[in-house]
Amino acid sequence: MPKVEIKDTTNPYESMLARFDVAAKIIGLDEATHNVMKVPSKQVTVSLPIYMDDGSTKIFEGYRIVHSTILGPSKGGIRYSTLVDIDEVKALAAWMTWKCAIADIPYGGAKGGITCDPHKMSVGELERLTRAYTVAMSDVFGENRDIPAPDMNTGPREMAWIVDTYSKIKREYIPGVVTGKPLHLGGSLGRTEATGRGVMVAANEAMKKLKMNPKKTKAAVQGFGNVGSFAARFFEDMGIKVVAISDVTGGYYNPKGIDIKKAIDHVQTNKKHLGGLKGAERITNEELLELNVDLLAPCAMENQITHKNVHKIMAKLIVEGANGPITSDADKVLQDKGIIVIPDILANGGGVTVSYYEWVQNRAGYYWSLEEVIKRADESMIKAFANCWDTATKHHQSMRIGAYIFAMNKVANAIKSRGHF
Ligand code: GLU
Repeated sequence: MPKVEIKDTTNPYESMLARFDVAAKIIGLDEATHNVMKVPSKQVTVSLPIYMDDGSTKIFEGYRIVHSTILGPSKGGIRYSTLVDIDEVKALAAWMTWKCAIADIPYGGAKGGITCDPHKMSVGELERLTRAYTVAMSDVFGENRDIPAPDMNTGPREMAWIVDTYSKIKREYIPGVVTGKPLHLGGSLGRTEATGRGVMVAANEAMKKLKMNPKKTKAAVQGFGNVGSFAARFFEDMGIKVVAISDVTGGYYNPKGIDIKKAIDHVQTNKKHLGGLKGAERITNEELLELNVDLLAPCAMENQITHKNVHKIMAKLIVEGANGPITSDADKVLQDKGIIVIPDILANGGGVTVSYYEWVQNRAGYYWSLEEVIKRADESMIKAFANCWDTATKHHQSMRIGAYIFAMNKVANAIKSRGHF
């Protein structure tokens, strides 16, 4: 199967720092606090020898980077991909710190990853790898220390292996050590669709500001995994016409609109991908980004809109379902073109917000209804959007820089109050 995209040469950690430095200057951040916030507080790399099904032993590299624990235990997902490397995980960890600050949840930021190709591994190999990684990270993880969750190519199944392995080590069941678990192991209602739902709520808030009518809006959604498929479905529910979707098999375009519920059914009954989807013209992932649509939601991965294709982007509004889909040099061009970008650290914060609700429910031993989860998560996204919008307006900056300013102010205040030795 073809890969989604070749990574741009842009280093995601440098991209994160570029925005960070702009915001630091605007808020007049002192050098000491600036330096503390720039570097991850902990970086763990492990080599994991795993028995493969063919009898061989393969060594996998695994990472867990804790960027900050200043506002609470660190929080962030674990991704499995051949493209995982330490700079990617470092950037993703820092983004989690800003994301949790914007979502107003009492967490710092972290991220984990294992360099592997999960599509070429058996369930048994993935289970051994996940359990070995959990054992290696058992002194990093903890319900009051560092709480992992799903990310690219991981989900409830992997979280179940993590909670089981960790609980066996600790000799007691500790569901709060990881979120995104299956419901029957203490997962939360609404967690699976939470990121996609938050992307829709953020898009809706932006559309109100820009006076865009959902019924007259055409959208393209890149990526049809846990974020993109739900975002597209929620867009459809709002009356938005989703004209293009894509995944690792390429893009699918129909100017009259794609039936998203049918596409989701197709994926569920078709080996988990869109290949063979009827009623749409085949396009590439690159072409999808350049379509003449009103709303574009990149929900796949980093570095999709770069200096190479940014001039061809036609959407009025971009909502980042993925982490880091736009490079920092492309940001400037989009701003000059008057395209509004709702940044990742705001737009995809719905997932970690419901992760927080899952952790609260685990610790209380009391579980909420779906209505309760949705109501709280929607309100939280609306408030976070308003905070970033107001900050951006006050400083005459883009939404991205507004979001960074809001998050960094909060983290900087906490660093100054807590102090160090
Ligand atoms: N991996 C998701 C993200 O990037 C969710 C993290 C979490 O729930 O802790 O936001």
